[in-house]
Amino acid sequence: MQCDVLTLFPDSIQSVTSQSIVKRAQEKGLLHLAIHNIRDYADAPHYNADDTPYGGGEGMVMKAEPIFRAIDHIREQSDNLRIILPSPQGIPFSHQQAEALSCESRRVIFICGHYEGIDERVRTQLLAEELSIGDYVLTGGELPAMVMIDAAVRLIPGVLGDPLSAQHDSFAGSLLDYPHYTRPSEIRGAAIPQVLASGNHEAIRRWRRKESLRSTLLKRPDLLSHQTLSHEDQTFLNEILEEQPSEVCCSQRQEGAER
Ligand code: SAM
Repeated sequence: MQCDVLTLFPDSIQSVTSQSIVKRAQEKGLLHLAIHNIRDYADAPHYNADDTPYGGGEGMVMKAEPIFRAIDHIREQSDNLRIILPSPQGIPFSHQQAEALSCESRRVIFICGHYEGIDERVRTQLLAEELSIGDYVLTGGELPAMVMIDAAVRLIPGVLGDPLSAQHDSFAGSLLDYPHYTRPSEIRGAAIPQVLASGNHEAIRRWRRKESLRSTLLKRPDLLSHQTLSHEDQTFLNEILEEQPSEVCCSQRQEGAER
């Protein structure tokens, strides 16, 4: 995956990408990340990358020209670009989009906004896609860009130590993940489910599948409504409904219907 991040605050990207799995992905050559300081493309002597808004009002707006120049510079190396504007007004970023990003053949450019946002002509002239990480407003596009890169990078084959671990994560198979436990087997009176220490792989698989369904039913019942369930899943769900206090399942179902 080849990514470029255009930002006014390169250090904030650097601090996240120089650690842990994203760092290792770069060391393995699975992620090529270039960080561009937008100010480097602004005019001397002041290198201003923002200005007051036309029409008046509060705040500053990021100027279009330094961003166009940065994109022109990247286009000299490759013309096959996918340009993403992190924006609260964008399409919600999802697991499916992270998957698509992880195998994107185009060079992916993230343009991080700040202040009131970016001159609208950047979006319209570059035909940039707007993607949102949620219905709230952050101060800048750096964290959203990093969220999207991180979510995509961990899905690139070879990035995670165990290639199966991402397959069992929440959303990967349309359900939430099952609960995890580690040593000791008992802590403060709370023991692990004994099946996990049984060594019986089929029993463990069945327990995990059922607990995945339970978590989904209780926490995100809306996810279940989009699923065609196997006979085994339906049996597990019926068991869960009998096991759970009825008011819990009813209230969760109600919430799911309202989402
Ligand atoms: N005035 C803009 C609006 O209300 O739509 C918000 C600007 S915000 C303060 C500055 C920048 O943060 C945006 O240009 C965008 O890059 C980024 N940003 C803020 N919230 C975001 C979100 N939920 N998802 C993605 N990017 C976001």
